[in-house]
Amino acid sequence: MVTLPGVGRKTANVVLGNAFGVPGITVDTHFSRLARRFGWTSQDDPVKIEQEVGELFPTSEWTMLSHRLIWHGRRVCHARKPACGACTLAALCPSFGTGPTDEATAAKLVKAGPFS
Ligand code: SF4
Repeated sequence: MVTLPGVGRKTANVVLGNAFGVPGITVDTHFSRLARRFGWTSQDDPVKIEQEVGELFPTSEWTMLSHRLIWHGRRVCHARKPACGACTLAALCPSFGTGPTDEATAAKLVKAGPFS
């Protein structure tokens, strides 16, 4: 697929995973940021992130893992001000405190979605 004009590795993984049931990890800006915040990787290169995170999860989880991270990154774990105080993953996240930890302040940062 990546030989098609305008189709890169990220798009190819989205299409393969969702339309054809071929597991793939979609590394966009949200996935990259969250994977680093969770301590799953320290890489910046999307292909290296894909490889390192892929080693941590069964292949069958890759497509939905991508959706979940991107969704969480869009709604809660933003680049500049993650809503740590309103985050359901706070107790598990090694980067808790990157954003405001006060619940009321953090709640105002959460986006309703679906996408932004
Ligand atoms: S605790 Fe903060 S840094 Fe960790 S996932 Fe939640 S919003 Fe992101």
